[in-house]
Amino acid sequence: MPVPPTAADLARRVQSGDTTASALLDATLNRIEAARNLNAVVSLNEGASEQAGQIHRRLAAGEHLPLAGVPILVKDNISVAGTRTSCGSKILASYVSPYTATAVARLQAAGAVIVGKANMDEFAMGSSTESSAYGPTLNPWDTGRVPGGSSGGSAAAVAAGLTPVALGSDTGGSVRQPASLCGVYGLKPTYGRISRYGLVAYASSLDQIGPFAHTAEDLALLMNVLAGQDPLDATSLDAPPAFAPGTPEDLRGLRVGVVKESLAGNTAGVDATLQTTLDALRGAGATIAEVSLPELKYAIAAYYLIAMPEASSNLARYDGMVYGARVAGSDVTEAMTLTREQGFGPEVQRRIMIGTYALSSGYYDAYYSKAMKVRRLIANRFAEAFGQFDVLVTPTSPFPAFRRGEKTSDPLAMYAADVDTVAINLAGLPALSVPAGFETVNGVTLPVGIQFIAPALQDERLVRLAGGLEGLGFVKAGVAPGY
Ligand code: GLN
Repeated sequence: MPVPPTAADLARRVQSGDTTASALLDATLNRIEAARNLNAVVSLNEGASEQAGQIHRRLAAGEHLPLAGVPILVKDNISVAGTRTSCGSKILASYVSPYTATAVARLQAAGAVIVGKANMDEFAMGSSTESSAYGPTLNPWDTGRVPGGSSGGSAAAVAAGLTPVALGSDTGGSVRQPASLCGVYGLKPTYGRISRYGLVAYASSLDQIGPFAHTAEDLALLMNVLAGQDPLDATSLDAPPAFAPGTPEDLRGLRVGVVKESLAGNTAGVDATLQTTLDALRGAGATIAEVSLPELKYAIAAYYLIAMPEASSNLARYDGMVYGARVAGSDVTEAMTLTREQGFGPEVQRRIMIGTYALSSGYYDAYYSKAMKVRRLIANRFAEAFGQFDVLVTPTSPFPAFRRGEKTSDPLAMYAADVDTVAINLAGLPALSVPAGFETVNGVTLPVGIQFIAPALQDERLVRLAGGLEGLGFVKAGVAPGY
């Protein structure tokens, strides 16, 4: 699987005058057009061509542009001034962002060109990108299968080589799981590492923006631009980024804990990929031991009892009065009711109802407040494990890409796709899905990702580890066959 020109390659070529940002933008638009069947991209940025045209002048003026001319897609819940931010929802079909997210502003300041917006599950609620009001995104490895979600458009775009890198958001796994199902890297940073200003809120205490890429070098390049404190996001952390891709030397003596609770219920290909990953680490001088985190069995329940209440409160703003679509009614109540009934899809409505219920008096203590206690226990258990281990490892997903339609009628089966990822958001930790292997299903090769988890603010360790695995020739990144 060839790795296409990376963001680092493209930036070097633009910096050296070997190509221009405008030429890269044209080539990207052609690839997006040729791959329209994937439905990975929901809108294009009309300002892109002007921005690309400026890069040459900015370089000539001596500006430092580490991402000079690099074309980037961002998930459609991340604001770019003047472009539509639909969040995969009908209710925001005509909403144009009046301002730009800090993460995007930082990319643009570094010379990147935002090409357009990537498809997603409605309001980032889902694991398959099938709940988008703009139709499902297809997995480039097998178009009969889902790319994962909710950032499935971003993952599929990078896997199909439309752009070398993309941004997604991860509330319970939405960067890592689609990265795993599409065979690319996906990083969920420590909560607070990247500003959430301009990211449309789903569950504010869990949401983080994160990058997709084919190489550790690109992850480092992006994170050094994206991470950092932002006065516009009070939860952003003052932790200046120092990312660099590592070498196999970084793996020597690394203490790796294999999470026991993640070993059951995986497909044979996922089990085999975990074993080859552990063998590679052992061969490079890491020490491997199992560790049990018993509270993880409550992670899915606690996650949904926290994410849905937060969503029910965050989504109250879509009442047809200020944002997006409005359906007329005979009075204000009817107008709001009709707007929300017709504007939101079934999964979003389900979550608003369950979330409101879990917060209501009489049930708050039984559900929401209990889930918050479990959240604390899970965070404490991770902290304890990191007394013994430098990183923890699990599969990213118990299975490779599943068929479209396979889980759409069973919400609990869809929620269970996140069994290995949600606890990390509850604890606020950084985690990286590494493309580590393949599983052949009915003669079709499907990617398998392995998840590494680090202590809070040790995101850099994950990117070093990835570089180490690449140095061993172990990482299976690259575009899907045929792209
Ligand atoms: N699938 C999980 C959910 O539906 C996670 C989604 C996400 O990380 N945005 O909530």
